[in-house]
Parts: sequence; structure tokens; C-alpha cells
Amino acid sequence: MKKLLVGNWKMNKNSHEVAEFFKTFNEHFSEKREAWIASQSIHFPIVEELKTSGVKAGLQNCSEHIDGAFTGEVSPRALKDMNGHFVILGHSERRQYFGETSRGLNAKVRTVMNEGLVAVYCVGETLSERENGQTLSIIEDQLHQGLNDQSKANIDNLIIAYEPVWAIGTGKTATPKEAQEVHAYIRSILQTKFPSFGDKTRILYGGSVKPDNIEELLAQKDIDGGLVGGASLKAKDFLALCGDK
Ligand code: PEP
Repeated sequence: MKKLLVGNWKMNKNSHEVAEFFKTFNEHFSEKREAWIASQSIHFPIVEELKTSGVKAGLQNCSEHIDGAFTGEVSPRALKDMNGHFVILGHSERRQYFGETSRGLNAKVRTVMNEGLVAVYCVGETLSERENGQTLSIIEDQLHQGLNDQSKANIDNLIIAYEPVWAIGTGKTATPKEAQEVHAYIRSILQTKFPSFGDKTRILYGGSVKPDNIEELLAQKDIDGGLVGGASLKAKDFLALCGDK
């Protein structure tokens, strides 16, 4: 399976900058690796229209409901109807600033996968949790709570992103060895929870991934790709991550 790079644009770019990005990106993207882009929801239709067909578009969050009286929310069913492919769920910024919890995210993961979208479920420890030696137990809790009772029939639509909170947007990257250690642990939990899918489920690393550290990270056995914030905003950097210099 090809390595996958998911760009998380967060709340960045205006419509002209989105167009500029794809003008450069489309010209050089060779599909050597997979490239997905999670834009702000308001930009989704522009991304969908301008991206080359090899790129998949998605969002950074959505409702756990498919429709109804939920003012201001974005429906995963509406996203699917607009040709959306995936949703990032449980990003540490959503957990930190919007009070999302693994238990609450369980419902979002379920709805997203039921709607035929891919759920990119994020887990990761804070710096103090790492320093206290709690990394693996935090990851285990986040996985159990978020994935508890998910239908095995939908597990093809699950991707896990390991994002140590201390490495996001800080310029500090987990070493390939540190990242691999957690990825292997995540893999072992998935193998127990979903025996026939644990080996296949993609596990992405996120946290200050850059063109100069991507190759070493992707060389690790259980790292299937990257979830990328800052370095996904510039077409040239994201192309480099996708193996297209
Ligand atoms: C992210 O937002 O998911 C992320 C990993 O950001 P950055 O690459 O900027 O650290």
C-alpha cells in the first residue's frame, strides 16, 4: 500500500491561496504517495473542484449526527454527498480548545464510518504525560474509548494518527525510534481489537513532519504515512513530503 500524507490546513488560507496551492501542486504530483487535504469546511467545494483527481478531500471535524437541528454543525452525510472522502477526528486542538473527549469521539467515529467516510482518529500524549511515563497508557485509553464497540464491518474506514501533543506545531519531532515504539503499540492494540484488520489499518505519524525528516519516519515498520500541519500549507513542501521534489 502507498504511504499516505494527510494535510491538515487547520483554519488557514483564503480562496485565492487555495487556488495557488493547487496550481503548483497539481503540476508536479505524481501519485507516488497518496495525498489527502483537510481544509476548512467553507473551502471544501473549492478544494474538490481544483484538486487533481489523485488527491482526496476531507474535513477536520464534523457532527456525530447526520442531519437535524444542530445549528452550526457540519453533517458527515452532507460531506459524503459532496464527494468528501474523510474526516480528521479528535485532533489535539479539538480536545484542548473544544473539550472533545475520547468517549465523546466514539460517536463521531461511528457516524463517520457508517456514512462511508474514512475516520482519521487522532491520539497522543502531552509532554507531562510523556515525562511521567504515561505515554502508552494514555494511548491505550484513547484507543479503547474512541474505538469501543465500533462495527467490524466498517473498520476498513479507520485510520489512526499518532500525534504527540508536544510535537505539534512546535518544531520538535518524535525521533523515528520514539514514534515507531508507539506505532507498534497501537498496532498491537488494533490486532487484538480487530484481529483481521489490525495489520492493515494505516497508522500515521503527526508532529512537525517536514521534508527533511519524512523519509526516516516513513522508513519505520509501522509508520504508514503522516498527518501534517505546517508543512502541508506550501505546495512545494507538501510535494516534497509526497516524494515529488
Ligand atoms: C497537526 O496539526 O496535525 C500537525 C501535526 O501539525 P504540524 O505538522 O504543524 O506539527
